[in-house]
Amino acid sequence: MKTCTGCGEAKPTTEYHRDATGRDGLRARCKSCTSARFAEKRDYHREHARAWRKANPDRAREQRQRRNEEAPHLRWEKHYRESARNHGLTPVIETFTKQELVEHLGGEFCAVCGSTENLTLDHKHPIAAGGAHRLENCQFLCSADNTRKLTRSDRGWITGVRSGVLVDPDVRKGLTTA
Ligand SMILES: [Zn+2]
Ligand SMILES: [Zn+2]
Repeated sequence: MKTCTGCGEAKPTTEYHRDATGRDGLRARCKSCTSARFAEKRDYHREHARAWRKANPDRAREQRQRRNEEAPHLRWEKHYRESARNHGLTPVIETFTKQELVEHLGGEFCAVCGSTENLTLDHKHPIAAGGAHRLENCQFLCSADNTRKLTRSDRGWITGVRSGVLVDPDVRKGLTTA
């Protein structure tokens, strides 16, 4: 038994996390005091950050934009995770940075028309059809081509567009209605 410095209760040693720096190899506070303290701190920081954003909306927006520019892949992953969950699917994420994707694709341009404007991240095998968020399944599409694609699989579609011959009837339908 060991007395917790947090709640003052004597508890069996199994109620304490290990801590190599502690004299007895255990934390001074019991597990429940440790997690309560952790939650308190987290809430405090969240509240503090929220108050700051409210008081400094412009700087908060700037900060958000800068973070997005520096690490677009985090936004991509967040979006992918949300979409997959919305489709009742388990998100499969293999992290990669924008730089890695650009190198993998040989540049930053729309996979269909080659445009470098209004690019969006696209999952070749669509998220709705269980496509994973990994380097090999990602490409850039301009927002117009992305809208045309919708959630259809692009198997054959992009090659069709490039060669001017659209084989897949489903794909043709998608193109004419867009
Ligand atoms: Zn305690
Ligand atoms: Zn395009």
